[in-house]
Amino acid sequence: MIRRRGALFVVSAPSGAGKTTLCREARLRLADLAYSVSYTTRVPRSGEIDGTDFWFVSEARFRDLRDRGEFAEWATVHGHLYGTRASVLQEALNAGRDILLDIDTQGAAQLRRRYPEAVLVFIVAPSMAELEQRLRERRSDADREIARRLDRAREEIAMWRQYDYLIVNRDLKEAVDQLTAIIVAERARTSRLALGLPDLDLPQKEVRH
Ligand code: 5GP
Repeated sequence: MIRRRGALFVVSAPSGAGKTTLCREARLRLADLAYSVSYTTRVPRSGEIDGTDFWFVSEARFRDLRDRGEFAEWATVHGHLYGTRASVLQEALNAGRDILLDIDTQGAAQLRRRYPEAVLVFIVAPSMAELEQRLRERRSDADREIARRLDRAREEIAMWRQYDYLIVNRDLKEAVDQLTAIIVAERARTSRLALGLPDLDLPQKEVRH
């Protein structure tokens, strides 16, 4: 059996780019892909379940966790606090489990510093006009909120260079194909393989010919 460490797959996108659906579809297709449930101080939207979509906590609880160094990364997004519990990532990586994170660009930059081998994927809508239309179709947000999200989208899109991969979400199936292909390929990287491959006769050191 070839053993390997777990890998971190970080997915970011401006809101409206289709990231939530894309992540959900990729997780349905791929076995053994855990999901990092973030902590947040925002209130649940209808249908969201505590412990599945997010851990919904008070500001006091969030600050307490943050001050005790419990978060691998945290950020303020749209006026609310969001963070990823460090112990959850560490346990997954040590157990050789891959884990998918849906976090913003500030959080992705922090994770890149902490885990240089993390794989960063950025998702964009085909155009700003399309992004605006998708936000309006959701109808869950007021005009002022949409304008705020579009401003924030511009700031986030400017960060695309810090990512390893960029997916333009024109067509859901095509975008899911791309995301799963990235994950499948990254899983096969030799640098992720643990030393000691007992039933394969692979040399452990580089062989010079
Ligand atoms: P929403 O509250 O609309 O689901 O998410 C708002 C934004 O917060 C999204 O861009 C999402 O990726 C980001 N986000 C969710 N969880 C985390 C987290 O744990 N850390 C950071 N930095 N961003 C997060």
